[in-house]
Amino acid sequence: MTESHLRASALTFTDVPDPASGRGYRYLTDAVLTFREGRISALVSAEDFLQAGGDLARCEHFPGGLMLPGFIDAHVHAPQLGVMASYGRQLLDWLESYTFPEEARFADEAYAGQQMERFLQALLAHGTTAAMVFSTVHTHAADALFEAAARRNMCLIGGKVITDRNVPAVLSETLDEGLRATRDLIERWHGQGRLRYAVTPRFAITSTAAQLQLAGELLSARTDVYLQTHLSENLLEVQKTGLLFPEAKDYVDVYDRHGLCGPRSIFAHGIHLSERELDLLATRGCSVAFCPTSNLFLGSGLLDVARLRRHGVSMAVATDVGAGTSVSMLRTLAEGYKVLQLQGQSWHPLDALYSITLGNARVLQLDAHIGSLCPGKDADLVIVDPSRSSLLAGRLETCAGIDERLFAMIMLGDDRIIRRTYVAGVPVFDGPAPI
Ligand SMILES: [Zn+2]
Repeated sequence: MTESHLRASALTFTDVPDPASGRGYRYLTDAVLTFREGRISALVSAEDFLQAGGDLARCEHFPGGLMLPGFIDAHVHAPQLGVMASYGRQLLDWLESYTFPEEARFADEAYAGQQMERFLQALLAHGTTAAMVFSTVHTHAADALFEAAARRNMCLIGGKVITDRNVPAVLSETLDEGLRATRDLIERWHGQGRLRYAVTPRFAITSTAAQLQLAGELLSARTDVYLQTHLSENLLEVQKTGLLFPEAKDYVDVYDRHGLCGPRSIFAHGIHLSERELDLLATRGCSVAFCPTSNLFLGSGLLDVARLRRHGVSMAVATDVGAGTSVSMLRTLAEGYKVLQLQGQSWHPLDALYSITLGNARVLQLDAHIGSLCPGKDADLVIVDPSRSSLLAGRLETCAGIDERLFAMIMLGDDRIIRRTYVAGVPVFDGPAPI
């Protein structure tokens, strides 16, 4: 049985971290992580490893490196790398001007295949080992996404967009086509290896009530399948949704009355929600994905995280690429911190790093398998090396303790500091060797 040993410092979480008491996380300045057959078997200090008869010479050593659980992106669009950084629009115009034309290109199977490969390589190069992902409306594009993830043995929740109104003709499908294709994709991919399926209406505006109803029926028949969609991102979108669904009490009610609100439902954004909507999300066990770079970029608004927490709504963290401006979860946390600062709130670096690892794993109900460097879990991990950014390396020299170091790493780090990424114990990305 092949066993691998990695040596570096390590940070992992057992629960929501409490920096004051030191509970909820483990930080080891010199650690050995052991895994075999794709699963973590031990995380111990180098000293304990030696005392137990281990041979440090057998460890692959990353001096100055930090091992972390692989990052998890809770909301991202695989077909949108090509529209990142597109100028001058807010949500609805942005979709019309940039997103729909780009997603239409995925009708070409070869293009779809190439882009899905490119997307997953981008995730891994940024230390992201698992994600909840939108594909396009095309069935073959969703197949290409799942095939590419299966080849890398990645943990991925994905779904084909279903839509039966308010999109260009090239992206439209009938109600029956969308649902039939979704059922087929669930049969093909859900539960295959590390893959899961999410029913994926783009948002309420692009689905009729009949389609949302059928999506809800599908979810009630398959309670292990997820739902991913958008919610209350932009004020004009909220207004338009109200006009399209006059019978609904509010935006959340549009989804709830069709059976789309449950503990496996992840709603991106949720910025402009009423008290009633937040209470209902909490009651149903739904989660909101905080997408700070996207919310700033499209001028959508600032998510009031404290308010969300007060209502007991669980929160995931996500890039929302291509409206998001970085694939990096570190950049996402840095912008999230600023969004909170603008509202007089703060985000402790330990809590931020918890959010993109064990926190997101819990929201996605994948924490039995991923999210921490804990024996029995899949060996999805990232080794960061802050010395690869000279600015960050210089800043770390003036940091007093681990909290300050982690905060500097979040604020100044990005894909340049990703030294290596592992998926189920296999190295899948190597940054350039240290100088
Ligand atoms: Zn999105």
